[in-house]
Amino acid sequence: LVSTGEHKFLSQLRRRAGPRTAGLRLGMGDDCAILRPQRSSEVVVTTDLMLEGVHFRRDWHTAEQVGHRCLARGLSDLAAMGARPLAAFLSLAVSHADLAGRPSWADRFLDGLLALAGAHKVPLAGGDLAEAPAALVVADIVLTGTVPAGRALLRSGARRGDAVYVTGSLGGAAAELAALQRGDRAPANVPQPRVVVGEALVRRGLASACIDLSDGLSTDLNHLCEESGVAAEIDAAALPIHRLAQESVDAMELALHGGEDYELLFTAPEKVRVPRSIAGVPIRRIGDITSVRKGGPRVSVLIDGKTQALEAGGWEHFGKR
Ligand SMILES: [Mg+2]
Repeated sequence: LVSTGEHKFLSQLRRRAGPRTAGLRLGMGDDCAILRPQRSSEVVVTTDLMLEGVHFRRDWHTAEQVGHRCLARGLSDLAAMGARPLAAFLSLAVSHADLAGRPSWADRFLDGLLALAGAHKVPLAGGDLAEAPAALVVADIVLTGTVPAGRALLRSGARRGDAVYVTGSLGGAAAELAALQRGDRAPANVPQPRVVVGEALVRRGLASACIDLSDGLSTDLNHLCEESGVAAEIDAAALPIHRLAQESVDAMELALHGGEDYELLFTAPEKVRVPRSIAGVPIRRIGDITSVRKGGPRVSVLIDGKTQALEAGGWEHFGKR
């Protein structure tokens, strides 16, 4: 049984499914989509679940921002592998009230999601909608992408002697969250997934390992080092701190541990010349990969001339604290 609200939304979804691309042979309307990845490429797949109250709050985020963020999280995972987006699939559960009105909350969610999809030329190749019995939004997105066979950037490729780099700036999302928690007006800080940078890292053969910063530098760098079986030492003075975080007395904490910046953290051998920016996105060298020492920390940070262990920061998402 499909309600009018559901029916309207699904036909809207089909009508607005985004750009036509060579990689999508058949989009919405049949039982399955048909993807046509380029010859000699591999398909990468990632899934991401967003839950109201855990990953966003509607008193803090507009529906458009939630839609943007939903796709941005998946695109950022593709970027971390160096993949080019192929197609997105969305499953959404919203209440009757969120389907009502013009535009409804669900319509505005879709506006935000499709604006970002258009910017990255990723078609929405499938979608499902359920009317939830309670006013709690659940959005699940599946992203597929392609990467030249054998060339995907993995977390496990970092080697001793490699340099550590980060794109953009750090701590912006955490500074925004802190402002919201204080009850200040939220600065508009929408994450921009670094898809173009990721693709360029693969094409130009620059990176040995890569991860996107969803849980924060301390946590994600620990993940990368664990997967690579190495250690890392970073220099706090080299960190590019987001302008929103710079105003805070906790600027360094926000940059080291704040999550949801969706920048790329990657490593490259010392002999590789990494440009200062790629596609207008600044790239900063922040440290080095070292070998694991028995009893030593996995990741350490040099602050004010002293080296200390950098434990994973345990970032919690919006609304949890
Ligand atoms: Mg990730």
